Amino acid sequence: MRVTKCRLQSLTAPLKPRTSDIHPTPYSWINTCTPGPSTGKLAGISIAIKDNISYDKAPTSCSSSILRDYDPPYTATCVQNLMAEGAHIAGQTKMDEFGMGSQTTHLPPFYTPVHNPASPSPDETPRSAGGSSGGSAAAVAEGRCWAALGTDTGGSVRLPASYCGVVGLKPSYGMISRRGVIAYADSLDCVGVLGRDIDTVEQVFNVITRPDEGDMTCASSSIRLIAFDISQRHLPHKGIEGLRIGIPSEINQKVSSGLLDYLKGEGAKVEEVSLPSIKKALPAYYVLASAEASSNLGRFGGGWFGSPPERQSRIEGESGEERRKRIRTEGFGTEVKKRILAGTWALSADEFDNTYLKALHLRQLLRKDYRNIFRIPHPLSPSSTPQNQAGVDVILHPTAIRTAPVLGVKEAKSSNEYQQDLLTVPASLAGLPCISVPAGEGQDGWPLGVSLTSQWGMEGLVFRLGKAVE
Ligand code: GLN
Repeated sequence: MRVTKCRLQSLTAPLKPRTSDIHPTPYSWINTCTPGPSTGKLAGISIAIKDNISYDKAPTSCSSSILRDYDPPYTATCVQNLMAEGAHIAGQTKMDEFGMGSQTTHLPPFYTPVHNPASPSPDETPRSAGGSSGGSAAAVAEGRCWAALGTDTGGSVRLPASYCGVVGLKPSYGMISRRGVIAYADSLDCVGVLGRDIDTVEQVFNVITRPDEGDMTCASSSIRLIAFDISQRHLPHKGIEGLRIGIPSEINQKVSSGLLDYLKGEGAKVEEVSLPSIKKALPAYYVLASAEASSNLGRFGGGWFGSPPERQSRIEGESGEERRKRIRTEGFGTEVKKRILAGTWALSADEFDNTYLKALHLRQLLRKDYRNIFRIPHPLSPSSTPQNQAGVDVILHPTAIRTAPVLGVKEAKSSNEYQQDLLTVPASLAGLPCISVPAGEGQDGWPLGVSLTSQWGMEGLVFRLGKAVE
């Protein structure tokens, strides 16, 4: 059965119905139309999904005009896994177009902006829910669904989680299948989970973290077994006693001393660590993400995907190339065009060595920095990793440099938007698991989150420390 999108502010606005669309309750929750089986680990539970995760019962638009009428031919593996365990798909959530942004403000004209529901008082000026999974974070914070899926390329689950006062997990790269997830930057994209507390996020994660032959970057069972074995050998069996927590000296923003004292009181050891390459992570991320995006988005503009029928049909006398140019010019928003241009430039013959390769090199240095400070070896190359017995198990720092920005303020729209990702992109470039957990509020009363990052495959550890923090 086809369904029409619902009208809650965090969810995608109803699309213009096509003549073939006949639906009795056009603004209701999608789950009223798609009940799952009544048994399973998530039986009866409602979960919203970000609008770049294919769902074959409704258009999947990536909040882009170019994909306004795109009906995916199949449902993404992660959503199939949820449904197989009885989850109800509650709705599709708004996002920055193709995941490019940090405030869920890069939207097509037919969507209204998402307001952050975590406002400390009703008189506050509306603030951003963060991005690009702002719709998912707001839907959870509003209590519209029990949990939500987002995607995180450079912080898009963790930043909105921090701004909206919910928990947001970006798993290790490859832990959740990306089959059916519309690519932004494949070497960085991860499906993530948002929920009100860690137990919820862990429960959903456990259902969707499976090997998948349909995604060649998805970790195989044998790699998962190695990671499990390493975690058993290197970690205390429960609690956080003896856990070593590193605070990166390069990050100016600090977490409250009250939190650190509490963790020390519970038996954790807290020490300063150095990740020198973290300072170059933001420019490296934007070069690599834009380069991959410029290539990935090349597939839109022909006849295969989406685009409303009125745009698809060829204007008289128009050549194939002119038609493609018109569809892309009309279909992509300003931010996406900017990224395509930046990425194409970074990959051009003149710039390749100096820009793209340099960014790749910085990414390698950052990965090395992380490997050097972790006590737990990397499961993908345990033998080549120097085992640093004096290393740390988890890195802790604030998720964001600030609380949620006010919507519509010019300063928040300019280059400062990119600055908001300063503390989230390092774990993305290194492919490490990182969770944002609510940890009080800023001076303005809006939520703030702290981030916990660990070695690849150590999700269990970030959940464990996260439970002590929340
Ligand atoms: N804000 C970052 C960007 O625009 C991260 C987005 C994401 O994680 N999808 O690229």
